[in-house]
Formats: sequence, C-alpha cells, structure tokens
Amino acid sequence: MFRKTRTALQKLRHLRFHGQQQHTWRPKSSSAQEKASRFRPEQKIHGFTVREVSAVPDLFLTAVKLTHDRTGAQYLHAAKDDSNNLFSVQFRTTPMDSTGVPHILEHTVLCGSEKYPCRDPFFNMLNRSLSTFMNAFTANDFTMYPFSTQNGKDFQNLLSVYLNAVFFPCLREQDFRQEGWRLENANPTDPSTPLVFKGVVFNEMKGVFSDNERVFAQHLQNKLYPDHTYSVVSGGEPLAILDLSWEQLRQFHATHYHPSNARFFTYGDLPLEQHLQQIEEEALSKFGNISPNTEIPPQPRWSSPREDHVTCCPDALAPDPARQNTLCVSYLLGDVTDSFEAFTLSLLSSLMISGPNAPFYKTLIEPKIGTDFSSVVGYTDGTKEASFSVGLQGLAEDDTERVKRIISETIDDIIERGFEAERIEALLHSIEIQIKHQSSNFGLALASYIGSLWNQDGDPVELLQINQRVSKLRRALKENPRFLQDKVKFYFKENPHRLTLSMSPDQNYLEKQIQAEKEKLQTKVGALSETDRKEIYDRGLELLAAQSETGDASCLPTLKVSDIQPTIAGDAVQLGSAGGVPVQFCEQPTNGLVYFRAVSSLNTLPEDLQLYVPLFCSVITKMGGGDLDYRQQAQQMELRTGDMSASWHIVADPAHLDKYEQGVVLSSSCLERNLPHMFQLWSDVFDSPHFEDEERLRVLVMMSAQELANGIAPSGHSYAMLRAQRHLIPCGELVEKFGGMEQVKFMKQIAETTDLSRVTRTLAQIKKHVLNPDGMRCAVNATPQKMSDAAAQLESFMKDATKNKREWKPVNPNISQRPLDPLDVHGPTAKLVYDPQFQPWEMKTFFQMPFAVNFISERIRAVPFCHQDFASLCVLGKMMSAKFLHREIREKGGAYGGGALVRDGLFTFFSYRDPNSDQTLSAFRRSIDWAKSGQFSQQDIDEAKLSVFSAVDHPVSPANKGLTRFLSGVTDEMKQQHRERLFAVNHRSLVEAAERYLGLGQRTRGVAILGPENERFNKDPSWIVK
Ligand SMILES: [Zn+2]
Repeated sequence: MFRKTRTALQKLRHLRFHGQQQHTWRPKSSSAQEKASRFRPEQKIHGFTVREVSAVPDLFLTAVKLTHDRTGAQYLHAAKDDSNNLFSVQFRTTPMDSTGVPHILEHTVLCGSEKYPCRDPFFNMLNRSLSTFMNAFTANDFTMYPFSTQNGKDFQNLLSVYLNAVFFPCLREQDFRQEGWRLENANPTDPSTPLVFKGVVFNEMKGVFSDNERVFAQHLQNKLYPDHTYSVVSGGEPLAILDLSWEQLRQFHATHYHPSNARFFTYGDLPLEQHLQQIEEEALSKFGNISPNTEIPPQPRWSSPREDHVTCCPDALAPDPARQNTLCVSYLLGDVTDSFEAFTLSLLSSLMISGPNAPFYKTLIEPKIGTDFSSVVGYTDGTKEASFSVGLQGLAEDDTERVKRIISETIDDIIERGFEAERIEALLHSIEIQIKHQSSNFGLALASYIGSLWNQDGDPVELLQINQRVSKLRRALKENPRFLQDKVKFYFKENPHRLTLSMSPDQNYLEKQIQAEKEKLQTKVGALSETDRKEIYDRGLELLAAQSETGDASCLPTLKVSDIQPTIAGDAVQLGSAGGVPVQFCEQPTNGLVYFRAVSSLNTLPEDLQLYVPLFCSVITKMGGGDLDYRQQAQQMELRTGDMSASWHIVADPAHLDKYEQGVVLSSSCLERNLPHMFQLWSDVFDSPHFEDEERLRVLVMMSAQELANGIAPSGHSYAMLRAQRHLIPCGELVEKFGGMEQVKFMKQIAETTDLSRVTRTLAQIKKHVLNPDGMRCAVNATPQKMSDAAAQLESFMKDATKNKREWKPVNPNISQRPLDPLDVHGPTAKLVYDPQFQPWEMKTFFQMPFAVNFISERIRAVPFCHQDFASLCVLGKMMSAKFLHREIREKGGAYGGGALVRDGLFTFFSYRDPNSDQTLSAFRRSIDWAKSGQFSQQDIDEAKLSVFSAVDHPVSPANKGLTRFLSGVTDEMKQQHRERLFAVNHRSLVEAAERYLGLGQRTRGVAILGPENERFNKDPSWIVK
C-alpha cells in the first residue's frame, strides 16, 4: 500500500483511544500503566537500555523509551489498559529516484522470509490470526509495518512473522517481478501474444495517478522540495518503475532495513519485557551496528518565490467542464521536530482555512471563484520541514491571477486584523474533544501520529503531551496578543520559499501517457534477442506455475478456531422514551463525552424529492438556524460540540432481504457540560434552517459536487458495487440514487444550475418530512453518571421538537413494523418498506471513465443476516478470496486487489485497480466452480473462519457500542446465533451453499464496471454502456 501522510490536525482527529471491554473501565489494582511506570532509566532488559519513563496523563498511558545496545535501534512502548495491542516497526527510507524502490520493497518483503519461506506469509497470516489490523505503508520518507490484535498468542505469532519478513526476507527475483514489474506475454501461455508490462505496484501506481488530486499533490511536494528525497515519488512513478532492477531492490534493503535504521513501537496492555525478549532473540541479536546515513538534509531555502505549471487529465464529471484549473501557493515552514512550533502552525492553519469563519474560506470559497480548495490545503507535515498550502480547484483559467492576488491580500489582512479570541477558543475546544474521544484502534492512531516526527529524530513522547502545548500556546497568546499574526508575517508574508503551482487539463493527457508507455515498451522490446524472448516466455510460465501452486503454508504459526471466544459480551442497552420518541440508552466509559444519534424515517417523502436527500444531509447543519447565521452556527458547533452531521440511511432488514428501512441519521457529540448547548443547536436546525440563503447553498453545492467527482477514482469499486446491486434488491434503486453514479451525475447537474430557488424549496420540503418526531428514534451513549441528565436534556429537546410533528401518510403503503425490543411486540417499532411486486433482474453496466485501470463488481442475490446459510456464505467469501481470487486477480492478473464478501445479503465479487476486465469476470466464475468442486481442506475452512471472526470481533469504541442494534436491528441474540452458525460451518455446508446460491442460473446477479474505453462492451448488446 502507499499513502500520503495526513496533516497534523487530521491525524489528531484519529488520535482517539480505545475503551475497554464491558465493565473493565473500573481502575484495576495493577494496571499496564502502573507496571510500566516501575521501569527505571538505565535499567537493562534483554539487550535494551531504558532511557526514559514518562506518564502521559492526557492519554492515560505510560511511555517507556529504550535503545537497543548493540544496534542502536530505537524503541517506544506506550503502556495502556487497552487489549487491542499494537506493534509497528518503521525504517527511514529515502529514495533518490522515482522507481518506487521503497514501495516495491514494502510489497516484496511480505512475500516470504528465511523462517517462513512459503509464498505470501502476509496474506496467509490474514487467515491464521485474529488481527484487528495488519498492513504496511510507504510514506514519503519512511516505511511502516503495523499490526494489532487482542490476543496475546496471536501477537507473538504476528510479531515473529513481521520480524522475519522485514529483517530476513527472501526477496526472490520472482517476487520482484510479480510485485514490481516484468515484461511478459499478454497471455503467458501463448508466446505469440505481444509482450506487455505487468506488476502489482506498477498497476497500483497507475491507479493512484488516475486521480488528479493525487497528481497535483505529488507535483506540489516534488517542486517545493526539489533538492533531496522529497523531489521523487516514493511510491513510484509508473514509467520510472520500469527502470528498477532486482539488484537495486536488494541493495536498498541491505542499507535501509537494518536495526540501526529502525524504530520499534508497541502499545497496549501486554508486558513490555516479553516483546523485548522476542525482538532481541528473533531479530536484533543477529545484527551489529551500521551508520545508515539516511538523515534528510534541510531543504536549501530559496531567495525568491517560484512558479510552475503542470497538466492533468480532463475530468468528465467536473461540475463545470470549463473550469478545471487548479492553483495553489505552498510555503515551506519549519522543522517538524519542533513540536510546539508545529502545533502552533497547524492550529494557525486551521484558523486560516477551516470552516466559514476562516479568512481564506471567506475570500476564496465564498466568492465562488473555484469549486473547492485545492487537494492540498493547510498544514502538511509528512516531510522533514512542514509546509502550508492554500489554493483552489475548479477554476477558470482567467481567474488564476485573481486567486494569486487574493491569497496575498488575505495574508496582509490576517497580519493586520488577527483572529477573534472565540475562534481560537473553539479550536482549542475541538482539540480537547479529540483527545477525549476514544477510537477502537488507538494504538494504530498513535503509531501514525508519532511516525513522521520520530522519523526525523524528534521526541515522540513530548509530542504526546498535547495539553502542555495547549497551555504553552495560551501563555504565548497572553504575553503577546500578536503572537499568531507575527507567525503569519514571518512564515507567509516574508517567506521567499514559496511555490505557486497551477494545473490545467490537457485533452491529450491520457493519450500521451499511453504513448509514452508504448514507446518505453518498444525500446525495451526492440532491444531483445530471440533468446531473450524465449527466456521471458519461460519465466512467465515459471511465475504462472509458481502462482498456481496451492503452496504449503504450514511453516507459519496459526491460531485455532478453539482460540475464538464462544460467546459475545453483548451491548447491554436500555430502551426508554423522550417526548414520545423511543430512545436507546447505552452506558459506556465515554471519558466525559455524550454521543447523540437519531434515525428519522423517509417513508413519507415523495419519490421525486429522493435525489435531493444526500444534498439535504450535507447542508442541513451548515446553513445556519434559529438566530444564528451559518458563520455563527459553525462557530458555536466548534465551540460546543464534537461535530453535528447528517447522513442517509438505507438498511435491509436482518431477517428479510426485501424489507428495508429508509431514513436520515443525525449524529453529534459534546462534552457533558455542553449538553444543553448541543440540543439548542439541534433545535435551531429543526425549527428554522436557513435554506433561503442561496449564496451559501451554492458554495456548499459546488463543494459537494467537486467532492463526489473527486471520490470516484479512489473508490471506484464502491461505485461498481452499488451499481451492480441496483436491480437485485428493492432498496438497490434508492441506494444508487443516494450514493451511486446517479447521485454523482445529479449533483453535477445541480452545480450547473444557475437558479437554485427550486432547490431551496425542495430542501425545505424535505425538512418537513425528515426533522419530524413522528418517524424518529434516538440513541444516547454516555457515562452511567451522566445518563439521567442526558435523558432529561433529550426529553426537553424532544418536547420542544413536537411542534414540528406532522402525521404524513407513507408514500409506499406496504409498511412492515419491526419491534425495537423483540421481547415487546406491542412496543415501539421501526417502520420498514417493502414491495410485494418486486422481482430482481439481471443487468450489466459499463461506465467508460478516463482511468488507466478497471473497478469491477459482480453481485448475486443471496440471503439476509438471519438466514441459516448466511454464515456459510461469509466463510465461503473469505475462503474463495484467500485461496482462489487473490491468486487469480492480484498475483496473476496484476490488480491491486480483489475478492469476494457478503454484504447486504448479496454475495459480492470485486476487483480494485484492475488492468483486466474479462479475465477477472472469468476468475469470478472459476472461483465458483472451485468452491462447488469442494477442493479445499479443513485447514482452509478454519483459516476462513478465523478471518471472518477477526472482523466479527473487531473492537467497538464506547461511542459506537449498541449502534448496529440501533441502526440495523441486529440484536445480541441474532449475533450470538450467527456466531454459533459460523462455528458450525463445515465442508458440506460450504459446497451446498456454493451450489445453491452461486451457480449460474441459480440466483439473479448484476455486474458493473468502471474503466477505460473497452471495445468489447460497446459491441456486446448484453452490456449497457454509460
Ligand atoms: Zn502498494
């Protein structure tokens, strides 16, 4: 995988820690923190020396810093009473070319190692473990390998595999050719077929750069830091990848994947000594010390600003085709290891950019010169020295000069006027909330939060002391009221190291790329002798043979099905009511936060308004309400709540595929002390949202449309899935309307409409249906101490809201009532709709897109969650993915990913960034034949079960406990029954399920593909081409 590092505040948003399992939040007698605090500096443990032991009260953890005596490897342990333990090791990887060497290395070290020489131990371990996370990332200047699990034995197993992979990989030439690149006959078994380029990373990066936002971000970084490692593409530039040799890959491993260049991080409640012992014994004891020389020098500063221009592919779905230019000014800031300066600058960046009260929002977004900020905006710290960027996308070419002028004027204006005290307060409040909010993968969030700074030799423990920085900032602001303005002057106004980068579409962009690849191919192929060609053919066959082997993975450690907990803990919710509206209460250790959700039915909404629901959701909390205009409202939301938002909600009944609930989910959170304020803000939204503000609406419409258009390339498989299910279940049509390609096209139309008055009237109409207590139910998660208070506040809010109550008739008269409490059939219900006439039908749709790769999905109507065959289908999906589809679609086909799963009662095949289409559709078919033939072992079944359970048992944060029950009607009893059925799945039930549901002609299926122009679909009348 390859990623860009998140910006600091974004990362902070993910920095939430995981609460404990039921009832374990009471202080334990000897907690993990306490035990860790007993280590002493200079203490020696298993080849390591303790350097520092620090309490981090903000995050309820104890940090222990160590170094490895012989190799100099650095180690940080964060002890916390969280059973979701995490390990990660990161290496500083600083490529000096764009061949993608660190990225291809990241892939190939996972392909087999000395102790685990089997093919693909990484993918095999996914099925032999109960991991809650396993992955690897290539960032700009480091490569990280993290995993997490709640099981101690599993932790040791995974640690052993990870250590062996990174320090003792096989790095076979064949692995390099499979994961990196190779020349091969289009059909490897037919030497007369033309030679083409193949390889997983090669295709992955072609996919990455199908995304214009990524193209721009990459150029911006490369050009702002032109003198060292940041001037190249660490993930690999597709054509440059073709210059990398296997020997260069091995060399890069030898110099970069050494303990002296490594940073280890562990997190959770497992004992540190045990980790250190295993790491020393299995890896570090076999190494000496080297000088890796991977430090990154500071970027030499420019004496005058620079400008540059790049081109991109035209976007067929851009809200306004005539406005597709991007312009952005990027400033080089200070070293990220100065954590207080970095904190100040990221806060300053939010003040300048985020939300309707920010100066750049007012001067750039609201005049509607572009559709949205440029893809890179604000503070970015994935580099040694941070940067700040501001600009617009969706610009007309004529407006670029104007944007430059506005940026410079806005900076002058900020220096002169500064920021309101209340805005600074609101931002500091949001930091408080972010620290208190708990996520289910806190260890991973920590690893990601400290990764970049630690990589530059900054102090990761200091970085965790967030409240210290907040206090320091408060002092600085008190001592010097112009503190922030002075920073703006220094870093922006007077900083000559700034780049103005523009990007415009080029009609021939894609063609030029294809041409360049063709030329590269011709050069390489032209230089081949007959012997070379023969060798390529032979090696293609060899690789194919290796890929086709079932492979013996018995060298790998594994958990057993008997290691899985037989029963679930249960969510323990209570049902009550407030102002006549049913409420689900869930007491949780929420760390002083209250979470509120409401589902509101769409049963009464006329059909012709349906397409507007997603827009309604995205603007309803952003238009202003009551006495507050949208700016004041945004300020109050930031000052008083974690967030307030709405989203559409369509969920099939767990017991019936053809019944579904349609609605809107409202959600928000706040500190306990702000409960009355939060409900007041909701009241304002309910009573009088300011839809009449057309100017505001236009800004939001453009941003939504742009966001949708930008979202297709990174998540094309989701769009393919939604389209494929369209005619298989009664809610398919509506889901496509709300979240599929139909919605993307609809929003493009709205963005092109000059008169929005009809839209504002429609939104006001939708409001009457949605913000109506008549079809509503609520859920509150709070601490036991605060629950009664929260209930009273909700009661008074709901009483107030009853003035909006209206009793409309449902549009569809076929309503089925599902009791919220299954034991109380006369109690409150969720009202589901169904269509007695519904008949599923087959459809195949192809969307021609300006992409270099395909996204494919085929879906088959199967059974709902409560059906007895559902468990077999889940296991079947995992097994077919791991044992068949992975090999065919990724290894042989060169797609970035692909597999099968069960979602919404549909058996679902998919592929992601896939160079093929027919070949993949055929792999789907063949996987079914394989399943029906029953050629799999008990070990295969057990592995698939482990993999299903690791998803089923994924930790749930206190904020989200009880939520599946609230939103989908899945009760603890249903979950337990599903669990027992999973345990009972056997060879026979799998073969039967494959025969009954997946065989051709058994069940209705749908197919959808998003991909580049394809003659085959144009000619075949069974395909609808869009
Ligand atoms: Zn990758």
